[in-house]
Formats: sequence, structure tokens, C-alpha cells
Amino acid sequence: MNAPAAGLTSDGPQPWPRARAAEFNQRHAMSPTPDLLRAAIDGMFRDRIAVVSSFGTESAVLLHMVAQIDPATPVIFLETGQLFAQTLQYVEQLSRHLGLTDVRAEQPNPAAIAAEDPQGDLWRRDPDRCCYLRKVLPLETALSGFEAWISGRKRFQGGGRGALPLAEADGTRVKLNPLAAWSADAIDTYFTEHDLPRHPLQEFGFLSIGCHPCTDTVVPGDDTRAGRWAGSEKTECGIHRPTPPRRRFQVVV
Ligand code: SF4
Repeated sequence: MNAPAAGLTSDGPQPWPRARAAEFNQRHAMSPTPDLLRAAIDGMFRDRIAVVSSFGTESAVLLHMVAQIDPATPVIFLETGQLFAQTLQYVEQLSRHLGLTDVRAEQPNPAAIAAEDPQGDLWRRDPDRCCYLRKVLPLETALSGFEAWISGRKRFQGGGRGALPLAEADGTRVKLNPLAAWSADAIDTYFTEHDLPRHPLQEFGFLSIGCHPCTDTVVPGDDTRAGRWAGSEKTECGIHRPTPPRRRFQVVV
């Protein structure tokens, strides 16, 4: 079965990725996480799969497993221009620690930012649009040519993530959520067992870390993502929505 040309679509999941996702779910529903990752990276999607990572507080677990399989696996990191300096330091530190050799810092289109967010305050006026320019569009460009991508989302993070499947169709691609069933305790244990470095902001109460204007600390007992866009209805940046909003700037692939 041949994959269609990679590209952005607003038509929702396509037949090819739906079939591949269903096949992957059927084969690997009971597989240990490292095994199913190997099956994806070294098997079904060999040379056509990328990891998308925020290099947040939990990211090291997935990245460590991927590095054990193939440290040259492309890792896409969305450098929005609004990140904490500590996150940028952590990208360097963790990449070096794990031996990752293909970490790609994807930046927003400078013309789009100059036109719509010259003062860097679009997050305050229209956060959905800000995320679209700084995350959704750059990711779509970065994923051009890939047939599948891997996310680090987990069901315990709540919100719309409570029913995450292992594999799902995502437009013209397959998206894998290999940590979907992991608990917060399992993540923590993995860090300890593998002596993985922590994000430098974690010790200050940041449990889920995105851009600095839209990330706050979390009090004990809150959801891990409670500090993201705190005080607003927004809970996701949009890269996981099947039909992102689009206006003036379009992706050409
Ligand atoms: S998280 Fe905030 S600053 Fe970052 S892209 Fe989204 S709205 Fe903009």
C-alpha cells in the first residue's frame, strides 16, 4: 500500500493512515513500549517517521527510548521564539546526554510573525492564532515528507487526552502515542531508573512547560497541565487538532 504525498489537509483522517493506524493498534496493543517503538522506527515507518518533542518535564522518557533504538531518528522541536531560556538549555543538555543526532529546531515563518505579531504579544490578543503561527504551521512544514510522527501525550494528562489511542490517523499521516497508557508514577520511576536529567524548571513547580507567557506553576494536586494557559478555556495549542484554523498564511508543501 503506497502512502499519499505528505501534506496538510483539512479533510480529516485519510483512508491510508486510518488503515495503517488500525493495523498498528491491532499488532501492538499489548506490546511493551520499547518494542512497539522499535516496530515503528525500524519497521513499519522506517526512515519516514519523526518524534515531536517539547523537551518538557516528561519528554526525556520517550526520547531515551527512541535514542536506544536509533539516535539519528529525527526529533522535531518547535522553537516558537517564546520559550523559557531554561528549555533551550535543556534541549542542548538532553540531546547531548542521549546522543540524539538529528534534533530539528523549527521556527515560525519570519514574514508571518512580522505581519501579525511584530510586538510578540499575539498570545495575549489571540492565543489560538499565536499557536497557529508559532506551532501549527511550523510543525506542518517540518513534517513534510514524513508518513508518521510520535507524540509524548498520555491519558493521565486529562482534558481531551483521556481516551488517547496508541495509534491514530492524523490527516495524511499516522500519529503514535506510545506513552498513552503510562502513569505519572511510571514516568517518574523511569527517570530514576535511567538517571535522566530533569528540566531545570521542574523543581520550581512547573509540571508542563510550554511558552513562557502561557505557562504557570502548578499547585500540588492539580492536573499536570493546569499551568498551561491558566485562567482561560484554552487547553491545547492546536497541533493535535485535526482541522486547525487558517487564514492568511498557508502551508505550501
Ligand atoms: S503557547 Fe502562548 S506564546 Fe506559545 S505559541 Fe501558543 S499562544 Fe503563543
